[in-house]
Amino acid sequence: MSVPAPIAMLAELTHRCPLACPYCSNPLALHGKENELNTETWARAFGEAAELGVLQLHLSGGEPASRPDLVDLTRAAHEAGLYTNLITSGIGLTPARLDALEAVGLDHIQLSLQGTTPELADRIGGYKGGFARKMAVAAEIKARGIPLTLNAVMHRHNLDDLERTIDLAIELGARRLEVACVQFHGWATRNRAALLPSRAQTEAAKRIVAEAEARLRGTLAFDFVPPDYYADYPKACMGGWGSAGLNIAPDGTVLPCHAAETIPHLDFDRFPDKTLREIWYDGAAFNAYRGTDHLPETCRSCERVGIDFGGCRCQALALAGDAAATDPVCSRSPDHHKVTALLETALAEGDAAEFTYRRMPRKG
Ligand code: SF4
Ligand code: SF4
Repeated sequence: MSVPAPIAMLAELTHRCPLACPYCSNPLALHGKENELNTETWARAFGEAAELGVLQLHLSGGEPASRPDLVDLTRAAHEAGLYTNLITSGIGLTPARLDALEAVGLDHIQLSLQGTTPELADRIGGYKGGFARKMAVAAEIKARGIPLTLNAVMHRHNLDDLERTIDLAIELGARRLEVACVQFHGWATRNRAALLPSRAQTEAAKRIVAEAEARLRGTLAFDFVPPDYYADYPKACMGGWGSAGLNIAPDGTVLPCHAAETIPHLDFDRFPDKTLREIWYDGAAFNAYRGTDHLPETCRSCERVGIDFGGCRCQALALAGDAAATDPVCSRSPDHHKVTALLETALAEGDAAEFTYRRMPRKG
């Protein structure tokens, strides 16, 4: 098969983060500072990505502002010709740093939102005072006119707050609001019961987003990601494995998606041991699930296979025990009953479930 060039790259600059969100998509085994690529190696990666065809670079984490060299990294990405998007909780972005980021060519900021009140947001983020600091940073972003997307991660504790979330996005001058219901990867798998919204909450959210989208056309754009446990069909994870984007973990491991390391039989290459071109085109992990040949007949004969590519490989492994299977969230999957059972258990336990917060491993 012919392999297209990647369009986007997610650079997880660090796993360090002052927040401790129980739905964080980072892996359970977080990398410490000592494993992170240095400034020069990241800059090389950005240059190679641009040569490979990448257009958009997402500077992510953890909290990317935990890197003292964030401005240098952004400059390197800009000079490589990449469109730069900073994905941040806002903590660590002082006015002086925002000025410097703007001066070196930062194109866009995607600010996470844990909740619309200090009580709710600080409880979910596990960080006292975080909401107030985030709002101060949002005001500085607005004052500078830097294009802003608000990324509201939604779940059973804040989905009822959706209307206020939309109002807040407008007040903060966001151009886009991501209403992203938690997907159960990384730390969210530890918090399924505590986070899974009810079907009624999900249906209400769909109605609210549809109404707001029509009302706010031209003012605020929406991306709505419903919880896939309630969907009939899965999402096209990463736009297809190894077909649109790549991720680099803080230690240089190059991944087809941020959760790919949960598939233990895959061998992942590391940058700079190999070039990004070698890894993208010839890497064993990238070729493992490219295309649709690995999928079972249920998918290969399905009219949607070119739309969703059989769903998420990590979810297929986690729920069906086979990374090549039909994603069990699909209503046509022979394993779909496992999702139904998980849903029932999570909803029954939800009221009593406590958060397991994301934590870095203790040293020593
Ligand atoms: S989801 Fe929360 S804990 Fe994870 S990186 Fe983002 S702000 Fe930090
Ligand atoms: S059967 Fe496979 S291709 Fe068809 S909708 Fe389900 S996951 Fe997608």
